[in-house]
Amino acid sequence: MRIEDALARAQEAAAPEVGRGRLAEYIPSLAAVDPDQFGMAIASCDGQVHVIGDADVPFSVQSITKVFTLALVVAAEGEDIWRRVGREPSGNPFNSFLQLDQEGGRPRNPFINAGALVVTDRLQSLTGDASGALRDLVRRESGRADVSCDPEVASSELEAGHRTLALAHLLASYDNLENPVDEVIGQYVEQCALSMTCRELALTGLFLARDGVLSDGTQLLSARQTKRINAVMLTCGTYDSAGEFAYRVGLPAKSGVGGGILAVIPDRGVACVWSPTLGATGSSAAGLAALDAFTTYSDWTVF
Ligand code: GLU
Repeated sequence: MRIEDALARAQEAAAPEVGRGRLAEYIPSLAAVDPDQFGMAIASCDGQVHVIGDADVPFSVQSITKVFTLALVVAAEGEDIWRRVGREPSGNPFNSFLQLDQEGGRPRNPFINAGALVVTDRLQSLTGDASGALRDLVRRESGRADVSCDPEVASSELEAGHRTLALAHLLASYDNLENPVDEVIGQYVEQCALSMTCRELALTGLFLARDGVLSDGTQLLSARQTKRINAVMLTCGTYDSAGEFAYRVGLPAKSGVGGGILAVIPDRGVACVWSPTLGATGSSAAGLAALDAFTTYSDWTVF
């Protein structure tokens, strides 16, 4: 089936879920987003983009940024980060404390909040400006030079982010942060508050489908590093619904509580879908339905 037709099928499958479920109410400015939006973009490895719906409406990228910060850290120093973060699915909610305390302050994986704080901390040590390094990457790859953080979302999360702050303090109590807690939290919140569209995110993620090669032909990651990051996305990228997500979609993917999901089809391209209301485990319900249909009706699948 042609990409345009598979996108139309995806939108059709998502329609009953759009606006259903809940917004990310624990971050007040995300709770104020219009819930009835849906957009999807497919970027292929040669840079062509197909879109449907609200694919050019900016939204809060949130945890999708965790893939890019991990890529920057791995690009800078290879495998060292795995001494401080695991790579096993957690089976627990994205902001859980349980395993972190039981397991001596080493987060299960880099895509739950605790693990992402460690990655941001490391990027901060390596660059002195973690969110700036991330911004540089997304600006270059998305082709929009003014991609930036939404200050209202950042301050809203900072004010309401009691759990994130507590997780950072718990990490620090186990000596698993190199920088002061407030600095790490500030960088993390700024990183999550990036505002981008489906089209821009799909373009930014293309290096994950191209064995680590950026839009200018330079290599950010080796093919092996890219394979590994995609594998961790498949097993851990959608929190405690990673099994259900793999069952229905069958692609490495990362979701965010802004309602976006980025999915990688190695050697083919990247799909990014957005609809703000979330299912029980914090990923977009309409996004899941759309990607399920997309990988069913197109041949863009790894299985
Ligand atoms: N900034 C959000 C938080 O830390 C990200 C969570 C997500 O997108 O899954 O709670």
